[in-house]
Amino acid sequence: MLTVSRYLTISETDFTSAQGVALRPAYLATTGRLYMIDKDTAEALNDESGFERKIRPDVLEDLIDAGAVIPDSVDELEVILEENRRAIAENRTRTFVIMPTSYCNLGCSYCGQAHTKATLRGSHRSGLVRRIIGEIESGCYDGIALNWFGGEPLMGYANIRDIARQIVPLAGDRGLSYWSQMVTNGVLLDARQLDTLYHDCRVSFFEITLDGTSHDLLRPKKAGGESLDHIVNFLSWAVRQPQYEDLRISIRTNVSPANRGEAAEFARTMAERGLGHDKVSFYAAPIHSWGNDISALELGKTAYGNVELEWLQAYRDAGLNCPSLVPTQRKKIVCIAMQTSAEVITSSGEVFSCTEQPLVPGYENTAVGNVSSLRIGRRPAGLYETWNDEISSGNYSCATCAILPVCGGSCPKAWAEGNPPCPATKFNLSSKLDMYASTHGFERP
Ligand code: SF4
Ligand code: SF4
Repeated sequence: MLTVSRYLTISETDFTSAQGVALRPAYLATTGRLYMIDKDTAEALNDESGFERKIRPDVLEDLIDAGAVIPDSVDELEVILEENRRAIAENRTRTFVIMPTSYCNLGCSYCGQAHTKATLRGSHRSGLVRRIIGEIESGCYDGIALNWFGGEPLMGYANIRDIARQIVPLAGDRGLSYWSQMVTNGVLLDARQLDTLYHDCRVSFFEITLDGTSHDLLRPKKAGGESLDHIVNFLSWAVRQPQYEDLRISIRTNVSPANRGEAAEFARTMAERGLGHDKVSFYAAPIHSWGNDISALELGKTAYGNVELEWLQAYRDAGLNCPSLVPTQRKKIVCIAMQTSAEVITSSGEVFSCTEQPLVPGYENTAVGNVSSLRIGRRPAGLYETWNDEISSGNYSCATCAILPVCGGSCPKAWAEGNPPCPATKFNLSSKLDMYASTHGFERP
């Protein structure tokens, strides 16, 4: 017996091809692929009962090959969760997210961190380096990732430079691949730092937040003054330097009621300023809670679904690179909190399992250890390594969600705190399918 995959979503909107065939767009989340399905087949699949008899045999064969129709003996949810568990177990990259300082030079109203002027030093710094070297030399891994995070990591630039200069050559000597990225507000980035970060520290991917044309109001410098112009000028220069061939920059915009209407103007300005470049991509994200109350700054989930479509359209209209309409890749490891081979280390040497626990008031007791006392090896378990089992138990609606394979459940911490973290695609998938059909030349009758 056959059944329709629970991960197949078919739009209810009819479109017509150039040849006059009635079709509907569809998305299969197990593969991340989009299709146009003829209307009769779409209606048969939606009806489910006896659908095999209503579909042409050759079309049914194609649907089986694609994974849209499967044997009804298959427990698709368990297959997905087991693949996730296996990806975690087989991951041979050791990841360190390092906070070289707990200070930040910006004072964004939505930030849930409490910043203090503390920098990684002394026994905490030597313990951190010892821990990374120990893991490189353990022989358990094929790759190492050093991801710089904050506070504002560039406030601890000297630490980044000095730590990376010890780790990069060692990883090479031991035959491990090396990856490094940085989440930064970009304010302090200059040509000299970028050169060292790129060439010596091998940081090739930067995520920088620019909050629309109101950026300077929404992300004010604590010392006063503006930063948007400076950041954009610098990035525009940097992506044109041939010596930074592998440099990639992701520009995130946190969207709130204050800047939701700025998509077109912001995207046009970024393009005019030279950021419509292969090395740069843009995405919008809703403001989210770190455990703090951001209700006044939040757009509702459904409202954000519509707003995201406006931002995607604006990026496209301006010729900026932006994400595909729908996720095209499986998300088997949803975040670092899934695996004990990944950890966050703060400027006071504390080790956490999740990036949104350190510096966040109320989460002080969630550290799983300190570099000065932890044995070399994987970190102790945190709160969220059993996430796939939690989904399996049906404790969260991810168990019945049509986009689980590409979402992975988004954020176990948010779920545990009663803030469903569903991405916009959960709410605007049908509109995205219709956008896909329209942009591929299919017309509404
Ligand atoms: S649990 Fe959530 S906040 Fe923590 S690392 Fe994972 S995605 Fe990030
Ligand atoms: S977080 Fe939301 S969108 Fe993602 S799998 Fe869970 S229910 Fe679905």
